[in-house]
Amino acid sequence: MPAVPPQREGGRAASCAPDQTKDSEIPVTETPQPPADAPTPADLETLSRQLGRPVRDVVAIPARCVCGNPLVAATAPRLSNGTPFPTTFYLTHPVITSAVSRLEAAGMMAEMNDRLVADPELAAAYRRAHEAYLSAREEIGRRAGTGPVPEIDGVSAGGMPTRVKCLHVLVGQSLALGPGVNPLGDEAVEGISAWWTPDACSCAGAWDTEGQAPDRDLSRHGPQGLPAMTGRPAPVRRMDTAGDPAEREDAAGEERA
Ligand SMILES: [Zn+2]
Repeated sequence: MPAVPPQREGGRAASCAPDQTKDSEIPVTETPQPPADAPTPADLETLSRQLGRPVRDVVAIPARCVCGNPLVAATAPRLSNGTPFPTTFYLTHPVITSAVSRLEAAGMMAEMNDRLVADPELAAAYRRAHEAYLSAREEIGRRAGTGPVPEIDGVSAGGMPTRVKCLHVLVGQSLALGPGVNPLGDEAVEGISAWWTPDACSCAGAWDTEGQAPDRDLSRHGPQGLPAMTGRPAPVRRMDTAGDPAEREDAAGEERA
């Protein structure tokens, strides 16, 4: 597999991008060799607005809207506070997360889990997706200078390699690594085509572009990532879906399991 997730097609016209300033020069992640798809300060601000909370330890933007806005954040396998972080590819675009939540609510994961039991070929392909996830994480970790993260050795995300517990994880992988890697992620991408497709920008109005972006201060206050708030369709233009990605994913998986 490629060392670097392929860039999605499309330029960076950024016609719908909020506050795309080009003059900020402060790198957030200090890496010896910033990868080509390393997040810009404007990307990080967009991510924090999409999620309604500050983002941490983002190493790359492996999937973008045709307009250039981030769709997926690639996060270091160990956060700077030391926490192991298995969800390497985190879906951030509210239109997509909301649409994927609709699929989960409609029972798509249960149907996929039944097929994983009944279809050995699908199960094998899904296991390969798990391996691809681990390989991609290793590369992200190398670029981030994270070093070994034995706590999550062999552990991917989303229920892989044998179950589907979070479609957001699978879609995040499919968008980041491209079609043909995770068959169930690809199916979920197809399943949201009524709400989002890769060739059209749906950023307008999808998150708050006015006022102060969520900053570090926010992370010190208030209960974020409450299980009761997770696993639901992400409301559009609201800032209250914050939560630790790992917690959100786990909670979502447990709720639907
Ligand atoms: Zn867009």
